[in-house]
Amino acid sequence: MVPKIRIDPGVVEARIMELARIGACYETGVCRTVYSPEWVEAQAVVERWCTEAGFATRRDAVGNIWGRVEGSEGGPAVVSGSHIDSQLPGGRYDGALGIIAAITAMEALVAQFGPPKRPVEALSFCEEEGSRFQGASFWGSRAITGQAPEGLADRLIDPQGTSMADAMRAVGLDPARIHEARRTDIGDFIELHVEQGPILEHAGYPVGIVNVINGARGYRVTVVGDSNHAGAMPMDLRRDPLVGAAEMVIAVQQNAVRLGRPAVATVGYIHAEPGWPAIIPKSVTFTINTRHNDRDALNGMAAAHEAAMREIAARHGLEVSWTGGDGLDPCPADPTIVALLEQSARDQGIAALTMPSGALHDAQRMAQIARMSMVFVQSKDGRSHTPEEYSSIEHCVAGIQVLAGGLYLLAW
Ligand SMILES: [Zn+2]
Repeated sequence: MVPKIRIDPGVVEARIMELARIGACYETGVCRTVYSPEWVEAQAVVERWCTEAGFATRRDAVGNIWGRVEGSEGGPAVVSGSHIDSQLPGGRYDGALGIIAAITAMEALVAQFGPPKRPVEALSFCEEEGSRFQGASFWGSRAITGQAPEGLADRLIDPQGTSMADAMRAVGLDPARIHEARRTDIGDFIELHVEQGPILEHAGYPVGIVNVINGARGYRVTVVGDSNHAGAMPMDLRRDPLVGAAEMVIAVQQNAVRLGRPAVATVGYIHAEPGWPAIIPKSVTFTINTRHNDRDALNGMAAAHEAAMREIAARHGLEVSWTGGDGLDPCPADPTIVALLEQSARDQGIAALTMPSGALHDAQRMAQIARMSMVFVQSKDGRSHTPEEYSSIEHCVAGIQVLAGGLYLLAW
């Protein structure tokens, strides 16, 4: 039985606002990319909170912050946390809330029940969003799980031309030591995060418990036709790649609609060359991002996208080619951890919906070295990756209570 865990809403709100001020942009947004001055300041605040809470605090080789409470019986650590970086612009809750949740939950548990049996750690991942260095997503959790290959930091370059390796040196980290961030002594990992979608709000639940993180496949597609005069070339003689691409966009969207939830397919980028009003384009490039929680369904949907693109290209006499088609497979949460979190919610009288995660998370990487699940907090209007992102303090506290109950069952 999980006793009701007392979380002070005032502390949660004050911490959200303290982090929100660092890298504040637009009215309610946050712009905080990895290894920027704002990032340094925010990680210092997290370090201070951990130290003030009495945790043994350290910064690892890539800049993840860890705050540890030793367990009287030892054993593999129970870890909770999320990422400190943001989209450009992001909101106040994405990532930040999960760090605040871990620290606040651990403090409350120690205050209420004394030291744990197993070691427990709060974690602030250095980078998740890939918003400064394209291709750097999950940098912190990749390093922890031993998936940041040697030399990668030299190859990742930000829009200003700075390499990840130089950005690390600028904040006092040595890229030659990235491998030292690896951990092999973590037993369980629970990440609290805002839902970033509308499911919980529509269903009337403050909190969600994640049983699977959806997998994703990504494509970069190029359609090639004939560039010609927009006035002189009759319609029946054209090979217009933008018309073909437009049909492909609809086909991709329809493939996901036909499958139903949680299938999604997004064309988030499209570009025509040469891109001029009086010229039929020569070529069009667009991206596809498609996701599902079932591997076979995901692969089936990807195959349907490919078949549709081939058929449409052939019908219009266009050439189509693509790169990608790969990505992360769906990642099931550990059933034991899901059950513990469900018990935590039930025992504390908090309504929680067990559900898939539509977004990718560090938790997916951590699942390769630990038993994993996530706690979701309702997002108002399902908004996220925007300054308008919002979750009520009441819902944040409910999520932290469910997380804390899970930690209690695992470690106390
Ligand atoms: Zn996030």
